[in-house]
Amino acid sequence: MKYSLILIFSILTCLSTFAQKDKITLVIHGGAGTILKENMTPELEKAYHDKMQEALRKGYEILKNGGKSLDAVTEVIKILEDSPLFNAGKGAVFSADGKNELDASVMDGATLKAGSCASVMTVKNPITLARRIMENSPHVMLIGRGAEKFAQEQGLTIVPNEYFQTETRLKQLKKEKGEKIKEKNKKKDKDDSSLLDQMPQDKFGTVGCVALDEYGNIVAGTSTGGMSNKKWNRVGDSPIIGAGTYANNQTCGVSATGHGEYFIRAVVAYDISALMEYQGMSLEQAANRVVMEKLVKMGGEGGIVALDKNGNIAMPFNSPGMYRGYIKADGQAQTFIYK
Ligand code: ASP
Repeated sequence: MKYSLILIFSILTCLSTFAQKDKITLVIHGGAGTILKENMTPELEKAYHDKMQEALRKGYEILKNGGKSLDAVTEVIKILEDSPLFNAGKGAVFSADGKNELDASVMDGATLKAGSCASVMTVKNPITLARRIMENSPHVMLIGRGAEKFAQEQGLTIVPNEYFQTETRLKQLKKEKGEKIKEKNKKKDKDDSSLLDQMPQDKFGTVGCVALDEYGNIVAGTSTGGMSNKKWNRVGDSPIIGAGTYANNQTCGVSATGHGEYFIRAVVAYDISALMEYQGMSLEQAANRVVMEKLVKMGGEGGIVALDKNGNIAMPFNSPGMYRGYIKADGQAQTFIYK
């Protein structure tokens, strides 16, 4: 009798683990904006899909092997930060004075702990700094020099600011960056201008990831170079918990991209979670309400990716395009660019 009870209990435990494994989900974005097919070459389009697929598969491997959503989000975002296709890490947009200033954040839906950094110029992967701030500091947000000092103390990879400025071939976002550089360095940089002029233009390009692991934990992270030509140490929504990033196991995880000033004022990520928590809306209803109604009324352009505790996903955006994708337990990575 005792043994049959133990057996039944073990079978039930196994089944519930399988049920949770069934729900593993990962959703990403690589920025929203004026991303139009007519401005895109097939090679560039393929490069975006390939990189998003690579990131999704990396996250999926972690989740499928029993890994945690926090690791999946960090590793996925690192891949996107390291790719010059996106406005985060390498390939980030330039500030008005010709530098790259990076912002990132991460939030753990199990504990509601969060970490974020802003205006860092030498940390190779700002998402890893956001995570260390969450895990190893008593604070939520560190900025500028102090954040960089903490990154050094934590042994994170430090690079010269020029690392982020490496030129690459196929960059829609790089044109935006390039035009600003060209304006600034008109005299020095004449040779670059024809190449830069060929590239499709885009305003945004932040990266983000939300993951649900088999333990039911939701983590959201976002990383960005901010908005091109930004001045005076401008900080956008990406490192602001509740605006660009939010996660709560009871509701959802959200990562945003778009015109940060509007996303801060609309408290986009938290608002979606709050509509679910207080109004009982589904993820889809809440996400659409905020992105397609509230933000549109305010004049804010962009989108979000999100998932809920059951692995439902939402990816609404009110701009012409948004690099985005998801992968679920079946391991089929799906990526999209246009409406
Ligand atoms: N939201 C970012 C910012 O305003 C920009 C982006 O999403 O591309 O800093």
